[in-house]
Amino acid sequence: MLPFKLVYSEKYFLPIGEHVFRADKFRLIRERLFQLGAADDSDFLEPQPASEADLMLVHSLYYVSKLIDGTLTAREELEMEIPYSQQVVDTFVLHTGGSILAAERALTDGVCISIGGGFHHAHPDHGEGFCMLHDFGVAIRSLQKRKLIQRAMTLDCDVHQGNGTAVIFGHAGHKAATLPSWSAPELGAVNAAGNVRQGPCRDVFTISLHQENNYPFTKPPSSIDVNLPDGCGDADYLAWLDNALSSGLRQFEPDLIAYVAGADPFREDQLGGLALTIDGLKQRDELVFRAARARNIPVFVTFAGGYAIHVEDTVTIHANTILAAAAVFRPAPASS
Ligand SMILES: [Zn+2]
Repeated sequence: MLPFKLVYSEKYFLPIGEHVFRADKFRLIRERLFQLGAADDSDFLEPQPASEADLMLVHSLYYVSKLIDGTLTAREELEMEIPYSQQVVDTFVLHTGGSILAAERALTDGVCISIGGGFHHAHPDHGEGFCMLHDFGVAIRSLQKRKLIQRAMTLDCDVHQGNGTAVIFGHAGHKAATLPSWSAPELGAVNAAGNVRQGPCRDVFTISLHQENNYPFTKPPSSIDVNLPDGCGDADYLAWLDNALSSGLRQFEPDLIAYVAGADPFREDQLGGLALTIDGLKQRDELVFRAARARNIPVFVTFAGGYAIHVEDTVTIHANTILAAAAVFRPAPASS
């Protein structure tokens, strides 16, 4: 039994046909956990679909209506890069409900993982890059509206920049943060080509570590963007992550962290150009969980992209995130 809950539904499967986005990965992750003996049925919570009112905490009425009525233009469907159907809409609404549940549960348990979600390219008024609805943005806004939290931090470790997140939470009119004071020599292994940029934030502080030369080609400013060079490996990545997270937590005290545990920084990803190993990705997860636990900040996790040549690798990377959380959050044995 795990020391926290996993949110999952068989209906997380996205009916999008043959696609580089393996929509069966959610089910495969669950099966892997059972094979490993790492989880059983009692570890799982079944999500409910998000309400339309919740969706509209982030998305425009116009966009939500078009999704429900099936009146997206051909261009809008093309930009989404997945086929439109009412079932696909329902699936995204369920993933969004799953992220809301995971965020709520993290407040009581310290951590909760939804085996889905992470649709960080969805914008208030359109979808793109396989993302129709911004599940964890809705979750944060829902908890804020109910006054369960005031301030949240998003930590996006997908290989692609979280442009939707930046647009939703990074609106103008906020006080710009100062640049961090670290420099490449102080980071040891870090490649000086890495480029850190800081933008504004208000009640949600957004951090994105991503490959600079990759989609989205226009990157609206997050609170901290770490633009990584092609081929960035484990040591450099972990040093940048450590510094970005430390810098963010020096500037901002969140009540909750939304961790986007993308599997696509993996070196054999078909849509990514970074060079992390499976072990490096697990160290990434451990670093995030340790930082959250050390500061007593609840963290909820969503699983974003993973397009490894072998789907088993994507499944291993995501399952490892759960194992990493179990190792960090397992209560210490009572001393004798
Ligand atoms: Zn991605």
